[in-house]
Amino acid sequence: MLSGACLGSFACCMISRLKHHRPVWGRSVCEHCGQVLEPADLIPVISYIRAHGRCRYCGYRIGPAALLSEAAGALAGLLFTVSRGW
Ligand SMILES: [Zn+2]
Repeated sequence: MLSGACLGSFACCMISRLKHHRPVWGRSVCEHCGQVLEPADLIPVISYIRAHGRCRYCGYRIGPAALLSEAAGALAGLLFTVSRGW
């Protein structure tokens, strides 16, 4: 489940970077203020909820797509795990 959430977060990040013509490598930054995000800001679902859906540094509202992709990844991971009987 956690790995699914991480994959969902990664997919959303890559789509956002490609959409905005930014390099796909490198550390994650806030799309609004450019602040490099700390590891505590990158925990799928938990970081979004803890920061109330906003950038911790500038308060910019993060769209629900990030949370939805992480939650969908977590759900997919959970379903995969249950279907395999693990
Ligand atoms: Zn910011």
